[in-house]
Amino acid sequence: MIILLTGLPGVGKGTQADKIVEKYNVKHLATGNIFRTLMSQKSDLANELNSYISQGNLVPDELTIKILSEEMSKYDVEGFLFDGFPRTVKQAEFLDELLKEKGLNLDYVINLELDEEIIKDRLVNRLFCPCCQATYHKTLMPPKVEGKCDKCGIDLVQREDDKLEKIESRLEVAKKQTLPVIEYYNDKVSTIDINNKSKEEVFVEIEGILK
Ligand code: ADP
Ligand code: ZN
Repeated sequence: MIILLTGLPGVGKGTQADKIVEKYNVKHLATGNIFRTLMSQKSDLANELNSYISQGNLVPDELTIKILSEEMSKYDVEGFLFDGFPRTVKQAEFLDELLKEKGLNLDYVINLELDEEIIKDRLVNRLFCPCCQATYHKTLMPPKVEGKCDKCGIDLVQREDDKLEKIESRLEVAKKQTLPVIEYYNDKVSTIDINNKSKEEVFVEIEGILK
């Protein structure tokens, strides 16, 4: 089963991805997480990625595609959940080719939609674990112990690109580059309006789609 999870930054793709992976037999590939893991190592590549990401820009398509395909080739499985990829039409075209080569079929595109005001609140109040990449929200999804990761116990931080001044530009980039991706997939897309829904309610809708 091949699933794409899409939506603007901050809609909660990561939270739903965790639930999907728990229930369905798919390997989670989140380009944001893959990039952050690479950035935590000291290398020229880490510096290059940081120069795009910390500014709220997209990583260029060529580099994104290269890193994604290398990561994907590590897993000899037929189920993938792509999260945060593809983010441009060029990446979507590439993914089509890649899946074709591997004899795989794109089954579902799940698009999460949320009002922008709420998105902004989620992003500025998001806390991030630099160790396991878990995310929390200061008030809506707080860690058990203030400021500490539930799993690792270490100090949570704010992501550089979650600073208020970066958020506007990230959303602009996302709207310009990523909304055309949803059009690209057109009749494959199932959109869920997640306003006023708990994460459990959103997941029930996802289960309904992934029958
Ligand atoms: P969010 O969805 O909250 O923006 P992610 O963790 O998915 O967070 O991505 C963080 C950053 O990594 C993005 O702002 C972007 O700079 C970069 N990024 C992630 N996925 C891609 C992609 N498919 N193409 C280009 N850049 C990407
Ligand atoms: Zn952690």
